Amino acid sequence: MTALTGVGVSPGIGFGPAYVLARETPVPPSDARHGGDAQAERARAARVLEQVAADLEERGVRAGGEAQEILNAQAMMARDPGLATGVAALIDAGGSAARAVYEEFGRYRELLVGAGGYLGERAADLDDIRDRAIALLEGLPMPGLPSQAAEPYVLVARDLAPADTALLSADVVAAFVTEQGGPTSHTAILARAMGVPAVVACPGATSISPGAPVLVDGASGLVRPAPSEEEVTTARNAASAREAVLAAATGPGMTSDGHAVPLLANIGGPRDVDAALKYGAEGIGLYRTEFLFLDRTSAPSDEEQEAAYLDVLNAFPGGRVVVRTLDAGADKPLAFLPPQEEEPNPALGQRGLRLLRAYPQILNAQLGALARAAAKSSAKLQVMAPMVATAEETAWYVAVCREAGLPSAGVMIEIPSAALRASDLAAEADFFSLGTNDLAQYTFAADRQVGTLTALQDAWQPALLDLVALAATGAAERGRPCGVCGEAAGDPVLACVLVGLGVTSLSMGAPALPAVRAALSRHTREQCLLAAQAALTAVSAPEAREAARSHLPGLAGLAL
Ligand code: PEP
Ligand code: MG
Repeated sequence: MTALTGVGVSPGIGFGPAYVLARETPVPPSDARHGGDAQAERARAARVLEQVAADLEERGVRAGGEAQEILNAQAMMARDPGLATGVAALIDAGGSAARAVYEEFGRYRELLVGAGGYLGERAADLDDIRDRAIALLEGLPMPGLPSQAAEPYVLVARDLAPADTALLSADVVAAFVTEQGGPTSHTAILARAMGVPAVVACPGATSISPGAPVLVDGASGLVRPAPSEEEVTTARNAASAREAVLAAATGPGMTSDGHAVPLLANIGGPRDVDAALKYGAEGIGLYRTEFLFLDRTSAPSDEEQEAAYLDVLNAFPGGRVVVRTLDAGADKPLAFLPPQEEEPNPALGQRGLRLLRAYPQILNAQLGALARAAAKSSAKLQVMAPMVATAEETAWYVAVCREAGLPSAGVMIEIPSAALRASDLAAEADFFSLGTNDLAQYTFAADRQVGTLTALQDAWQPALLDLVALAATGAAERGRPCGVCGEAAGDPVLACVLVGLGVTSLSMGAPALPAVRAALSRHTREQCLLAAQAALTAVSAPEAREAARSHLPGLAGLAL
């Protein structure tokens, strides 16, 4: 079989036998009918759906952290009253419980896929509940995965549900490969958090023969079934040589001439803290709190929020923890809000800070829980708002935070207007954090979910670098720090350029930290400045990258 190509979403080399997850729960035939007692059949369906929900919750308790939040949300889907009513109606019309579950879940699935974005990516969660329920109703073996193995395997699947991945660890899984899913799918998020190489959107992956050896490059997206011994050795040697080089750079982030650049981690919840500590994060630069809120039919309680925040703060005594208040709306709707009006351009709609202003009770509850958690910990809590467009919005947010007793309040710079008027925003905010993912999306009018537009989402685009420079200069004029927490911060070459543009800290998925630490430690601040100037004079992203590299000689020994 020839090599396959997908989208690399978690870097590293993985090698092992393929474990191909065949989700082959048979489809109950369309004429499958129950024996005549609709009431008993309805009760059977309800009992099984509850059993599936309880099992998911129990797996969540065993997994803990962010996985538990995801599994609890999935359990809530299994208990959805709308789905239960639909299943009951199909049983009343004569269908068997298994067929009714199959049809009703299929209908709901189409709605999710039609909604696209974050909701579309939840379709795998729904399929998983359906298959578990049908297996129970038909007395079939439960779909699932070995959580122990003689040697780590490459997990290959059409898509993966949180219930599949939650109990897996890096000791068991050498790499993930899925045919579907995007960079925001659960597979991508959890793989990055586990530090396991992953490739998604890889057509043909499930035709790899079960047990066949597979080599996976989570950076380039290359998946090679049955590689030659030489290919495996070369990839492994390159990976271990790189690891050895990277491991040599330790300690806090700084340039070779001692200019400090704190290196922080991006996390989605307490579960990701271990990886942040393992890779030497000096603190948290972006805690995406939306995982606490999405997929829920009621808001998380004050106590639940406080506990989740305190878990993270306690991991960094005396250190910095930057928490982003809820970034929901658009493709990340909140089920517990009244139905929102459908928006023709959701990414340009009521999201981020705009949604929090419309529902101040959500923001106030979150800030209250954060203030109480901060009072119980020695970590330095900073809060920041997503999707800020103007100085007026900045002033409003900072005032609300101050009122809640939070002394450090900043804003994300991810809309071009905010970068263009950075000095005005910096007059109001305590700090900036640049969200280069959204900043690219809005600068180039290129939806970040659309794979075919990746060239326009490249943070090396000179127009994006211009905006970074404007934001950093505006912040410096007012004596404010300006970090980067978008994916750009995890590119070791770009990290040097960002420092040269005046960025003061870098936050990234934890496994990217060693390469960025090493790249900074091999260059002076002056070299970073020259690299940044060279990149700014380029007229395309590839030229900017090349121009910058020519000023960063230390990269040659880094095997990047
Ligand atoms: C960004 O937009 O760069 C960012 C860090 O936020 P998110 O990816 O969560 O939108
Ligand atoms: Mg963003």
